[in-house]
Formats: sequence, structure tokens, C-alpha cells
Amino acid sequence: MISVEGLSKRYGELRAVDGISLRVARGELFGFLGPNGAGKTTTISMICGLLRPDDGTVFIGEYNLWESPKAAKRLLGLVPQEPAFYEEFSARENLLFWGGLYGVPRPELKKSSDAILERVGLAERAKEPVSRYSGGMKRRLNLAIGLVHRPQVLLLDEPTVGIDPQARNNILEIIRDIAREGTTILFTTHHLEEAEKLCDRIAIMDHGRILQTGSVGELAKVVGDREVVTLRGKFTAQQIEQCLQHEPVAVLSLADQLATLHLVREGYGMASLVSHLSKSGIELADLSIQKPTLESVYLKLTGRELRD
Ligand code: ATP
Repeated sequence: MISVEGLSKRYGELRAVDGISLRVARGELFGFLGPNGAGKTTTISMICGLLRPDDGTVFIGEYNLWESPKAAKRLLGLVPQEPAFYEEFSARENLLFWGGLYGVPRPELKKSSDAILERVGLAERAKEPVSRYSGGMKRRLNLAIGLVHRPQVLLLDEPTVGIDPQARNNILEIIRDIAREGTTILFTTHHLEEAEKLCDRIAIMDHGRILQTGSVGELAKVVGDREVVTLRGKFTAQQIEQCLQHEPVAVLSLADQLATLHLVREGYGMASLVSHLSKSGIELADLSIQKPTLESVYLKLTGRELRD
């Protein structure tokens, strides 16, 4: 349903998006996961036609976005990162206004606005000015606006940014329901758990490139089946690298104060590792051992943690 080939955008010397290709199938829930500045917003802005790429093509369904923009955009709904509505209008008035701009005929628009307000849990307060809403309610309205013309493809840019966990779960549930009904969804996030819980497939993105794409299970294979040991402490990447270089470990990621690795020799367990680190003067603040997770994959691919 979404087909992107060789998409690129440069700002001067900076390659904000550097040759991205991907396909999202009809009804699929696809996530872009990456840290701030990875290029997620730039990519989504090019997929929805807000930003013209320097190179590459975007197809929405059978339509080339830049050759048949009207037909392509008719299939698209966008939920931007910055809420886009009028605070002095009520939620219902906002939906009627934005739906009107999308060209939805009035009687149909009234019906679909009421149904969407119900779905996002705003029906009871639909007639109040939006300025009185909580942050979570505003996010739900932002989502509702993207849905008012019943798009086949919904693009969401960090739909849960800046809201509390309960409000976030609420939005994620709504997104999941919309996907179950057959809407193709592409969304960006820098929350690992969000991507892990929600997505059929995930693209891990950094420095304008897709580093790996797959389901959570497929991505986990990047680090293999062995348990991952995570070390945290007051060490530099260089110190820990030197300390571990002759040990039977396979290093997955190294950074100041953080390293992840596998133990690779029978009989060389955690006790041996801790004893070696201590003898080498490495001070650990925390040590954990766990099955491979999306976080360990992310660390291996990007070499850094994903934090808010
Ligand atoms: P965030 O989660 O913070 O929104 P992101 O992954 O969406 O991050 P982008 O907003 O796409 O990242 O930005 C990618 C890179 O392009 C960043 O280094 C950013 O500073 C740069 N960038 C984005 N827009 C512009 C612009 N209009 N002019 C110059 N540089 C830009």
C-alpha cells in the first residue's frame, strides 16, 4: 500500500534522509523506530507530500505521490507531531472544519465525526472548547482529525509524545483497533516498548538510514539466541574494550558507561566476567542478563541507547 524507493533529503551537507526504501502492505502496522534526529519526521513528511524529496519515489496504492498528488493524498491521513487544531473550537467543530477541507460531504461528515469522537473517547466532551482539554485528550483529538475522512493509509508522527503512560496506552489501543479494521498504518516513535507492542514490522532508523527491518522476532535474530549481558558503570568505551579484548566474550555494543555482550565459552560465566572486570579496576554500577530484546538489537545496530 505504501511503496518508497530511494528516498533522500539533504539540508546543505546533512543527509537527513539517505536513500530509504520500504514497502508497507495493506493493513500492516509498520513502525519507524529511531532516536531524535534520525530522520523519521523528514521521511514521513515526504511520504505524505508535505516535503519534496531530492531523490526517490513514493507510491500510495497505485498512485505516484508527485505525479498524481490528488489521487494519492485522497488515500492518506496524517497525524502530525505538533497538534494541529483550533483551541477555541470544540472537538466536533474541529472535525467538521478539517473534514470539510478534505472535501467530505456534510451529512457524511457529521456522521463520521460523531463516530470518531465516540471511538477516541471524546464524545461526552465533544462540545467543549479544546483549550479545556488535558494533554491526552488533545492527542486523541489530533488522531481523530487524521481519521475524519476515513483514509486507507494513516501516517502518525510520534502520536504519543509528551503524554502520561495511561493516555499513551489509550492512544495505542485506538491505533491497534484502527489497524485491525484494515487501515494501513505507518508511525514513528522513539519508544522501544511502543514499537515492540504494536508493530507488525519495524524499521530501525538512524542518521537518515534504515539499519534493519523486520518483525520483532526477525529483528531479535540480529543478536542471536544467546542471553545478552549488559554492563553499566563508570568506565569509558576504550577502557572496557581494552579490558575485554582477550576475554571469551562477543561484544554487541560499546559506549562510555554502557556495554552489551554475549559470553561465548562454556565454563566462562558471569562470575568469571565480574572477577575479571574487578581485577582490571572496572567499577560496575549495574549488571544484568536477559534474553535478546528489541533494545539489545537496537544497541547492536546503533551503538547507543534509545532514551526520551
Ligand atoms: P525527532 O524525533 O526529534 O522529530 P526525527 O527522527 O524525526 O527526530 P528529523 O526531524 O527528520 O528527525 O530530522 C533529521 C535531521 O534533519 C536532523 O538532524 C534535523 O536537525 C535535520 N533537519 C530537519 N529539518 C530540517 C530543516 N528544515 N533544515 C535543516 N535541517 C533540518
